[in-house]
Amino acid sequence: RRKAKSRRMNATSGIKKAGEANIAVSVRVRPLNRQEEVDGRKAVVKAEPLKNILVQRIQGAVNPSNREVQERFSFNSTFGPETSQEDLYNSVARPLVIETLHGYNSTIFCYGQTGTGKTFTMEGVDFNNWVHSSGEGILPESAGLIPRAVDDIFKHINESGVESTVRISHLEIYNEKLQDLLAPLDNAPEPKIFNGKGKDHMLISGLEEFVVKDTAEVLRFLKVSLEKRTTAQTGANERSSRSHCIFSLTVHMKETLADGDDVLKVGKLYLVDLAGSESATVSSHTQETRNINTSLLTLGKVIKELNEHHRHVSYRESKLTRLLQESLGGKAKTAMVATVAPTDAAVDQTLNTLRYAQQAMNVKNKPEANERRSRKNIVREYLSEIERLQRELAA
Ligand code: ADP
Ligand code: MG
Repeated sequence: RRKAKSRRMNATSGIKKAGEANIAVSVRVRPLNRQEEVDGRKAVVKAEPLKNILVQRIQGAVNPSNREVQERFSFNSTFGPETSQEDLYNSVARPLVIETLHGYNSTIFCYGQTGTGKTFTMEGVDFNNWVHSSGEGILPESAGLIPRAVDDIFKHINESGVESTVRISHLEIYNEKLQDLLAPLDNAPEPKIFNGKGKDHMLISGLEEFVVKDTAEVLRFLKVSLEKRTTAQTGANERSSRSHCIFSLTVHMKETLADGDDVLKVGKLYLVDLAGSESATVSSHTQETRNINTSLLTLGKVIKELNEHHRHVSYRESKLTRLLQESLGGKAKTAMVATVAPTDAAVDQTLNTLRYAQQAMNVKNKPEANERRSRKNIVREYLSEIERLQRELAA
C-alpha cells in the first residue's frame, strides 16, 4: 500500500506547474580524434536512441571479475559524433532563438571538460579563418551556434518586416574579473554588474554594446573579440579553459497594431561557453585549490540549491551566477549542452559531467516575455468609456 502511494507521488511530482519550463539539457558526444584513434582508444560513451547516453567501462577495482559496467542516463536530447552543426542548432538553439524574437530572454550554456567540444559547439571550427571569406549570409557547415543564431535572427527580422534593432556584446569572466572583449581600448576599466529593475534583472555598466545590421558585421566583431580572448595572455589555452565567455545579443522590436498601438518587445540571447568543468574539481589527494573556479563552483552550487528548493540561492557568490541569475530559476528560457569525450580515458570526467547535467534538468524557470504596449489610443479609449457611462446614466 505504502509503495503504491509513493509511486503515485513520484508520478505527480514530475508534473510542471503552468508557466514553468525546466532547463532543457542535451548531451553531445564528440568523435574520437586522430590521436585517440592512433592510440587505439575505444569509444565507450554512446548517444543511443530514446535520448539516452550509455557509458560502458571496465571497473576492475570495484568489480574484481573485470566485468563491463554500464550506466545509462536520459536527457532531453542526445547527439552522437555524426551530428552536424546544423542539426544541433536546429534541435537545441533554434527554438530559443525564436523565443528571443517573441520577447523572451534565452540562454544556452555549453558545459563540459576541456577538449570535449564546447567551443566547437558555440563558435565552430577555424572560426577565424572563415569569418572573412564567408561573405554575406553564407555560413560553412562548421559554423557553430553563435553565427547560426545571429544569422537566423537577421533572417527572421528581415522576413517579418518588424522594426528591430540588434545589439551585441561579448564578455569574458576570468578569475572573477569581467573583461569586455569588444572594448576598443586594451586598458578599458572593468565592467561592473548592477541590479536593474526587477529582482533578477542584472545590467552591466562599462560594457560596449554595438548596433549591428547583418551577420557579416557580427562576424567581423567576433573575429576581433575572439582574437582578443586567445591572444590576451600567454598561456592562452590555460586561460580559455578557465574562463567563461558570454556572447549576448539583444533585439528591440516595435510592431504597430491595426488600432495604432505599438507593441514593444525586447529579447535577449546569451550564448555561454563555460570554463572546462575540470576547473571546478578539487583533487581530493592534494586538496589543491589552485584550480578552483569560483564562478563554475557557484554555478554547480546554485543548481543544487534550486534542486533542493532552498529559500536562499547563492547567486551573489560569483560573477557568472549573478549575471545569469535570470537564466537559473528565473524568467528566462534556458538550455544546456553538456559536451563529453567518447573515450575510456575520460570516463570519470564524463560521468561527472553527465551527473551535473542531470541536476540541471531539474531546474525550473518561469519564462516571461518582455513586452509592453504603448497606449497611443488611451485618450480615445477613455473618451469612448465616458460616452458609454453617460449613455448608461441617461438610460
Ligand atoms: P573545448 O572548448 O570544450 O575545450 P574544443 O571545442 O576546443 O573543446 O574541441 C577540442 C577539439 O575537438 C577541437 O579540435 C575540435 O575541433 C574538436 N571537436 C570537438 N567536438 C567535435 C565534434 N563534434 N566533431 C568534430 N570535432 C570536434
Ligand atoms: Mg574551448
